[in-house]
Formats: sequence, C-alpha cells, structure tokens
Amino acid sequence: MSISRQDEERVLNLVPKQIYVAGEWRASADGSTFPVIDPATGLVLAEVASAAVADGDAALTSAHQHQEAWGRTAPRVRAEILRRAFEKVTEMADDFALLMSLEMGKPVAEARGEVAYGAEFLRWFSEQTAHVTGRYSPAPDGKMRIMVNKRPVGPSLFITPWNFPLAMATRKIGAAIAAGCTMIIKPAALTPLTTLLLAKVLEEVGLPKGVLNVIQTERSGAVTGPIIKDSRLRKLSFTGSTGVGRRLIADSAEQVLRVSMELGGNAPFIVFADANLDKAVDGAILAKLRNMGEACTAANRMIVHESVADEFSRKLADRMAALKVARGTEDGANIGPIIDAKSRDSIHELVEDAVSKGARLLTGGSIPTGDGFFYPPTVLASVPKDARILSEEIFGPVAPIVTFKTEDEAISLANNTEYGLVAYAFTKDLNRGLRLGERLEVGMFGLNTGIVSNPAAPFGGVKASGLGREGGVEGIEEYLETVYVGIADPFED
Ligand code: NAD
Repeated sequence: MSISRQDEERVLNLVPKQIYVAGEWRASADGSTFPVIDPATGLVLAEVASAAVADGDAALTSAHQHQEAWGRTAPRVRAEILRRAFEKVTEMADDFALLMSLEMGKPVAEARGEVAYGAEFLRWFSEQTAHVTGRYSPAPDGKMRIMVNKRPVGPSLFITPWNFPLAMATRKIGAAIAAGCTMIIKPAALTPLTTLLLAKVLEEVGLPKGVLNVIQTERSGAVTGPIIKDSRLRKLSFTGSTGVGRRLIADSAEQVLRVSMELGGNAPFIVFADANLDKAVDGAILAKLRNMGEACTAANRMIVHESVADEFSRKLADRMAALKVARGTEDGANIGPIIDAKSRDSIHELVEDAVSKGARLLTGGSIPTGDGFFYPPTVLASVPKDARILSEEIFGPVAPIVTFKTEDEAISLANNTEYGLVAYAFTKDLNRGLRLGERLEVGMFGLNTGIVSNPAAPFGGVKASGLGREGGVEGIEEYLETVYVGIADPFED
C-alpha cells in the first residue's frame, strides 16, 4: 500500500506540538521551538516546543505533587489504563508506524514491528500491575515478625534515545505506571513526535493529569541537570550512549538516585563451523540490519569460524547487496536513511579506517549521492584487529567479519570489549551453546537467533552497557522500593 503526502500530513497533524506539563499542553516558558527533520529528505516535518529550565522545574513539581495520590491508586485502575493504552496504540498501529518512519527513517513495515513490540510493553506491564506482592514471616528466633512491602520509588525522570521512539518510551512508562510512579520524559530531540502522540493516547485513555509530563528540548543537559539534582526526584532511567550515561550516573550520585542505565553495545555474532549457514545468515541480517543497524543490540562484529568464513561472507554480502535502500515510506524499502549527516559520516569513517588497514570490501562502502542521509548495506571481510570498527559502536548497516579457530578464541574475541549488552551465536551443539551462555560477558544471549528483545524478558547489559533491566518480571522492580517492617511477636503481651 503506497503512502501519500496527505497520509503523512494527516499523521503529523495528530501530534501535539507543545510540551505536556501538569496535564496541560502548552508552549515552553520562553516560547522557543525546534524543528524535527525527515532524515530521508533533510526537510522539516514539524516545529515543536523546546522546554526551558523553568518547564523542567514545573514538570518535576507536577510529578512530585501527584505522586502520593497516584501511588495509592488501586493497582487494578492503573492496570486498566495500561490495557486501554495497549488497545489504542494497537488500533493506531498504522499511524504510529508512519510517524516513526517519518521522524526516524525506518521502513514503515519495520516500524509496524516496533509498534507491536512497543505496545506489548503496555500490555505486559498492565498484567504485572496487580501482581506486586510482599511477604510476612517469623524471624528465625521466633521473637518478631518480618513484613516486607513494595512501594513506588517515586517521581522518575526518563531520558530516551531516537532509535526506537515508541518502544524506548513504553518500556519505561509502562513499568512506572504499573509500579505507581509519576514521571517526566525527555525524548530525544531528533524524534520527539512519537512520544508526544503516545502521551496524547495516555491522556485519552484516562491517565490522570500530572502523572506523565513530556519535556522535549534541544537543551537536554541544561533542562535535565537541575531535575537530577533536585531532591524531589527519586529515580533516573536513561537509555542512550555510554558516554552520556556515565555523566548522568555521576550527576545522580549527589542525591543517591536510583538509576537504570541502558547504554551502548558492541555485540559479537559468532558462527561456528557446525552452524546451519543459511539460518546463520538469516540471523545475521536480522541482528545487523534491524533499524538500519542503529540498535544497541545490533551485531557489531561477525566472528566466524575460518572454515566457513568465505561461504558465510559471500552469502551475507549477496543478501545485503540485494536490499532496497529508500525512504521508509516507499514500497519495498528495506533500509531507510541514517538518522543524520553526522552519524552517517561517522559510519563511513569507520569503514574507511578498516579498508585503509587492509579490510576487503565485499559490498557497499560509499555514500550515495542525492537527498537524505543514506548509507548502503556494507560487508567487510578480513578486518584487521586494530580496525576501529571492531571496538566502536557502528550504529549503521555495516558488517565487519573476523575469523577464529577455536571456541576459546571465539569467546575471548567476543569478550574483548568494554560493552556487554548482547551476544549471538549459531551452533548445532547444545552443550557448546550452554557453555557460551555461561562464559560470554553479556546481559542477554541469543542462541541460534538474531533477535532477543521480548517484553516478557529482562532486557539489559553488564559492564559498560548498563545497570538494571527493562521488561520481564524484573522491569517493574526498577520502580519499586523494598520496605521492611519489624513487628513485635504478636503472641507476647
Ligand atoms: P545519546 O546518549 O546521545 O542521547 C540519548 C538521550 O540523552 C537523548 O534524549 C539526548 O537528548 C539525551 N542527552 C544527551 N546528552 C545529555 C546530557 N548531557 N544530559 C541529559 N541528557 C542528554 O544517545 P543516542 O544517540 O540518542 O542513542 C544512541 C545510543 O543509545 C547508542 O549508544 C545505543 O547503543 C544506545 N541505546 C541503548 C539501548 C539499550 O537498551 N541498551 C537502547 C537504545 C539505544
């Protein structure tokens, strides 16, 4: 189904362009705005309000004022709001998909996948809401009782990236609503429109005023800095680069904030000699090219057994060369534009560095002429160990391939990074798969699959990839405090 200019305008018109504070849609305190750009054309899609420092303060005041009542709202009521939000986002799947494709660039068909995934967090956390429990037990010496309760951690600040505009918002907002926390979200300035439409949906399905506040801004540090240092805030959940995450952890130390950090990745994708190579190539396409490679979970390093490296490389290069690079709204588009010129140029620099050090280019590798920030699917074979592309997050559709001889060598190559978000491996040997699961230094491991994300599973990393988990039964815990009440022996008067 082809998408017309009118479809695009209709969807853009659904989105509020203001900030959302204390249940009111309004201009920013100083009236400033910023443009949201279509990465496929470089043209302005919309102009949105840019929150000022005073708006950040107003958002925190609202979150703080509404915390007590919201925390006491019956779990079932909160669950029903999430359930209705899931239904509404699902009904509006085509609109959300088109909007994400316009502001972020991913093909509409792929964006529909993100809508399903993102909406699923609302349903998952709706189901979790009524299942928060505590416990009551005698102390070992029998002289007192131990009661343990869960309580919402309190007003929370969310800072989200541009690459999954819906899912990055719902996995935080869903968990916070389920736990009874009020919140402020600052979406990435590159893609604020999806979060704004989501906030409108949540308002329409009955989320009380002031529980969710949205403060998109071009002045991220200046606006969120004072919020992080304000004692009314109790929690910071950040998804983004490791560099910014490190700074935010340091800032959070001042008032010992609870933090969740979903940071960068450098995923190894290991192919053993006994793997089904066609399945491994399918998995590699998924793990490498989902979101044009602009994913923290993207396979960054293809680590392939030397006996199958040539065949795997050829098959992967053939598949990648056949993909259609086009604006996400075009029929049959497989690979949309990179988010902006700067990101596209840094991907190209990594490719040039590898080639200058001796890597072989099997497909792609040059910036196309014309509008937008496109980069072709690229495969590099025989990548030398000192190439920057093996140690830096690529965030683009480029697959560098290196070879190994033994399982130990594959594991050591895989672990040779400061990151530890996810790893993938293809092998028919289940014992080997289980050994890898115990030895790879990651928070998530995909065995014979190129995709691990699932709202019912705990998403997150170790090492410089972050702290905490989102989704799964663990996700809600990030928004709960454990409170112990010691009670005198009720049989002693
Ligand atoms: P980024 O760190 O540049 O920005 C993330 C968010 O932080 C944006 O909203 C940005 O405006 C804001 N920000 C930037 N500087 C800030 C500051 N000084 N103070 C407060 N906020 C600030 O990252 P990005 O380019 O938007 O996203 C890509 C990165 O995100 C990649 O490294 C990717 O791996 C990571 N990521 C991780 C996960 C995960 O779950 N682990 C998921 C998606 C993306």
